[in-house]
Amino acid sequence: MASAKLQAPRGTFDVLPSDGRRRDSLRALADDLLGRAGYGSFESPVFEDTELFARGVGASTDIVQKEMFTFEDKGGRSLTLRPEGTAGACRAYVEHGMHKQPQPVKLRYWGPFFRHETPQAGRYRQFAQIGAEALGSDDPSLDAELILLLDSLLERSGVKSRLRLSSLGNAGTREAYGEELRVHLRERGSELSEEVRGRIDTNALRAFDSGHEGTRAVMADAPRLIDRLDPGDAEHFAEVRALLDDAGVAYDLDPTLVRGLDYYTRTVFEFESPSLGAQSGVGGGGRYDGLVSQLGGPATPGVGWAAGVERILLAGSAAPAPEAPVYVAIVDREHRRAAFALARELRGAGMAAQVEQAGRSMKGQMKHAGRLDASTVVIVGDEIEVKDMGTGEQVPVADAREAIAVVTAGAAISG
Ligand code: AMP
Repeated sequence: MASAKLQAPRGTFDVLPSDGRRRDSLRALADDLLGRAGYGSFESPVFEDTELFARGVGASTDIVQKEMFTFEDKGGRSLTLRPEGTAGACRAYVEHGMHKQPQPVKLRYWGPFFRHETPQAGRYRQFAQIGAEALGSDDPSLDAELILLLDSLLERSGVKSRLRLSSLGNAGTREAYGEELRVHLRERGSELSEEVRGRIDTNALRAFDSGHEGTRAVMADAPRLIDRLDPGDAEHFAEVRALLDDAGVAYDLDPTLVRGLDYYTRTVFEFESPSLGAQSGVGGGGRYDGLVSQLGGPATPGVGWAAGVERILLAGSAAPAPEAPVYVAIVDREHRRAAFALARELRGAGMAAQVEQAGRSMKGQMKHAGRLDASTVVIVGDEIEVKDMGTGEQVPVADAREAIAVVTAGAAISG
């Protein structure tokens, strides 16, 4: 019987070493940028109680209605593979009493997330996100800081993007505005798409996201939330904008910006990259001052973002070249251990070093060193010689110790 070929599940992918290098350097960049602004490394489980997302992300969202990977464990508990990171961060904040620490508590994370979406370029069922959250203060400088950090991360990854920015006000304003919007939508109900009409009562704001022509015309005449902000929210938003203006970051004020999650209040933003086509969102986020209390914690303001690792890599420029390794070649089997030890010592001295491990001939080893783009080859036999792959010059050395000295001195000169 022919066995079916095993493949990664639909919408998932393997990261091979050739892609891994770019992911590694993106991660190092994110850790550096966020770490220097005080965002500490944070991890939470890949699965959580389903209720966390039902309550935290919002029952009317696409994520909760259609996209969650939910399963029952052996004890009959309903668990869900996390579709986003903010709810888990808020749960952890409450669970570990982080409100007793000096505020704000700043967290950064990197890891896999899961959404049951129709796969296409830049859209997967398992994808990685980089995220940052600041909990425990509603200072507008946190909104601005987080936006600037994501802007730097994208810029330094070679992603050209446009920043859309808006404010959704507070829950009260949003409720009053929602009623106003629903009246408008009902008045023009016959012009709307069926989907939008069906959502008037549950999530009227999402109508701004619609691509449907009739709906778009209705939305062009719709009242705008940004014109209804109360004085406190308007002032908060003005301060966020002033800080962004001072930093020289360009943004488009876009009152139609509605993020896919229910929990946002005040600032919302999204970075889009035109080079990504249909899935243009590279990263986005906003303020969620009601989320922690909604999850049963003390009233706690918060703001954060998440950015898609794969989309940053798709839209970004090529990775920096890896460090050229030293290649340790072996003249004959007798010298295998000496060569192995030499490679280990070179690594100990801070060099990238690889040793022959596939029984190649000397000619084959030189060819392989070329493929690896080695800077230097150390040839280990009865004699030890060091070959500079740039100049082709090959010199004998007295012993392993001198070989290491020559190689590290060469690296110091060229590096
Ligand atoms: P969101 O939580 O929906 O705002 O997503 C934040 C970022 O995660 C987006 O801007 C994308 O870059 C990325 N992202 C979201 N969903 C997916 C997906 N299904 N596949 C790949 N990346 C995604």
